[in-house]
Amino acid sequence: MSTLNYRKGLHHLGNGCHAWLLPDGSWGWSNSGLITGSGTSLMVDTLFDLTLTEEMLTGIKPVTDKHPLTTLVNTHSDGDHYFGNQVVARRDVEIIASEAAAELMTQDAVDQLVGLKSTDGIVGEFARDIFGPFTFEGIVSTGPTRTFAGELSLDVGGREVNLIQVGPAHTAGDVLVYVPDARTLYAGDILFVGGTPIVWAGPTERWIAACDLILDLELTVIVPGHGPITDKAGVQNVRDYLTFVIAEATKRFEDGLTVDEAIDSIDLGRYARVAEHGRIAQNVLRVYQQLDPTLTLPGPSTVLEMIAALEGFSAPAPQDASRG
Ligand SMILES: [Zn+2]
Repeated sequence: MSTLNYRKGLHHLGNGCHAWLLPDGSWGWSNSGLITGSGTSLMVDTLFDLTLTEEMLTGIKPVTDKHPLTTLVNTHSDGDHYFGNQVVARRDVEIIASEAAAELMTQDAVDQLVGLKSTDGIVGEFARDIFGPFTFEGIVSTGPTRTFAGELSLDVGGREVNLIQVGPAHTAGDVLVYVPDARTLYAGDILFVGGTPIVWAGPTERWIAACDLILDLELTVIVPGHGPITDKAGVQNVRDYLTFVIAEATKRFEDGLTVDEAIDSIDLGRYARVAEHGRIAQNVLRVYQQLDPTLTLPGPSTVLEMIAALEGFSAPAPQDASRG
């Protein structure tokens, strides 16, 4: 698919596979999937809030009226892939995630984002800027009804759908959803297309191994967690970026640079033009901690502050002050 077709809503990918895309793929703007079998369907991920998820359920109705939704798979524990679960759970749908992802799907995760948006200072300003379009109030964290570790093969109305755990990588419990007879893969946030990957969990090498696993599958269509539909070229791009980060960070670690010095001195080259390039901060932190496990890493709000600074984000001027 060309990026010209990257529009919000339902996309028919052929062979009973569908995607629900949410441009522009930046923070929180994630994709979902829908796989139909005979008289049934499986959803891959819900969206970041209840309104977006309800809108999607309405939009996919022409498909789910014929193939009722019976199963939901969450690719991982980030809110933009499961905060909408409660809307789907009302419909008596089995929800499946990896054990590692399930542990992180807590009410605390919802409350932290609510809190972040009301924080003072640049972190709060940045959080309100990137998460402003989403409503977290009223979200009841709704985890899986079934968990697994490793691999799980499902029968979706007579067709095989394989869940392959590749985390910890982006997060602790990342899962790929592979439909062999359609040569189609739903990659979750193992793939960011048109934006910068962020290594929350790591090790980064495991994420690269996940890319290699995808490159070895028979595939023609790949739905990323964020961005337009892609193919193996999109996988190679993510692999190249992660390889670049490991090489640049390791060189600086061995030269004795502090993690802040490393982040400041890396020339991103062509990656500087990619959206959310400031995520290099978290990605370098992860490599440093892998090389020295005694390092204490800053928490997510400090990381967001670092990312905001690298991307030149500045808080909007207070409106009332200038008007008197
Ligand atoms: Zn995501």
